[in-house]
Amino acid sequence: MAILETPKSDETAKFGRKVIPSAMMSNFRRRVDQHPVYFTYGNGARLYDVDGNEYIDFSISYGPAILGHSNEHIQDAIIRQARRLYTPNTHDLEVQAAQKVVDHIASAELVRFACSGTEANRGALRVARAYTGRNMYLRFNGHYHGGLDHLLGGIVLDNDNPIPVEGEMENDRYSQWTNTKGRYEGAFNQVYMIEWNDLPAMERLFGKYGEEIAAVIMEPVMVNNAGCLPEPGYLEGVRELCTKHGVVLIFDEVLTGFRIDLKGAQGYFGVEPDMTTLAKGLGGGLPVSSFCGKQEIMDTISRGEVVQGGTYNGHPLAMAGVIAAIEEYEKNDGLIFKHINKMGTLLKDGLRNIAEENDQSLLLQGFPGAWTLLFTNKKKVINHQDSLDSDFIKAGRFAELLKERGVIITTRFCTSAAHTEKDIGDTLDRANDAMKIMKDEEGRR
Ligand code: PMP
Repeated sequence: MAILETPKSDETAKFGRKVIPSAMMSNFRRRVDQHPVYFTYGNGARLYDVDGNEYIDFSISYGPAILGHSNEHIQDAIIRQARRLYTPNTHDLEVQAAQKVVDHIASAELVRFACSGTEANRGALRVARAYTGRNMYLRFNGHYHGGLDHLLGGIVLDNDNPIPVEGEMENDRYSQWTNTKGRYEGAFNQVYMIEWNDLPAMERLFGKYGEEIAAVIMEPVMVNNAGCLPEPGYLEGVRELCTKHGVVLIFDEVLTGFRIDLKGAQGYFGVEPDMTTLAKGLGGGLPVSSFCGKQEIMDTISRGEVVQGGTYNGHPLAMAGVIAAIEEYEKNDGLIFKHINKMGTLLKDGLRNIAEENDQSLLLQGFPGAWTLLFTNKKKVINHQDSLDSDFIKAGRFAELLKERGVIITTRFCTSAAHTEKDIGDTLDRANDAMKIMKDEEGRR
């Protein structure tokens, strides 16, 4: 099978390093890709780089390209809006865009827009604190909510007092990737962090500290790490505990929103949080996010008690993108989600067979449209701690071999409305090649 050559990308990276740290705009892109290729063009499920190579894309822009690349309805909407008004101000489309969110996300009664998932989570936590008059919040090991000093990484050394500290664990890639210098001192003092999918741990914590906790923030599926699904009854149990202790439950649906289902994970699992954050799928690729929630909570902003500003909040081009993307998702009662799931399932089943044929212990877990690959003997992984013995090096090697063969993944595969059965077939052929090489490499060791 042909291996792609990337001389122009290599040259671009060489010059890029002179003007951009590591020649890339995100450490997390670097994390999955030490050897960047620079894309110029996208069409459907395919991306093209400066060397003219074609790739089947399962990173789908780290989440947003749910409709694939260069969707015409979104393109038309952006161009139409660019001709009307592309500089930010209060404008007509933001109300329509907010209505679209309210139409589909059960917990969204009032909606504010921002520009990134990080900002949306910052806003949600501030509102939750203002509403409850409490300071602490709870998040979960391995869940990603953006780059803020207090939201990013950390490790827990004492399970009886689970306030994270800076640092990293030897066998824990995620703690290494999220460990940064330059945080403000004491950033973690407002945070508790426990393992996800462990209701007794949360019960214990709430029993001790429930009255000081303003919010619980979680990915309702642990998409960013190991693709863990909630255990039966877990989300319901969390919901109950939050209600009992007067804690605001925030679902970070930056990845699951408009991806697992038109109604998000809260619709899919039938568990309603008090607040929701959205980004990625929300604008189909435009830089836009939202935090939204129950009226009585969000009214802390209406009354001016909570400040949320931002020059680019509700940017006209982003709003055009939100309306157009959601119009596409709505078509035929959300038919695209069925297609996304079908493509994901085909690919997952095919990969499982290939792994078996090549004696690889591969666990694929998540929901049909987004799942993570773990090289482990386990049949299921339920949280970050549980995932630590999976082989990261092997997963990285597999991604690298696929990329050389024109298939882009991150640590997971995401399917889009644009993927076809041919894309899946082509991918499986290349995956087969990659697995064979891995088997040979292991044989030689
Ligand atoms: N929450 C989740 C679940 C995410 O996956 C991400 C980004 N990967 C974020 C928040 C942060 O979003 P952004 O990168 O837009 O700040």
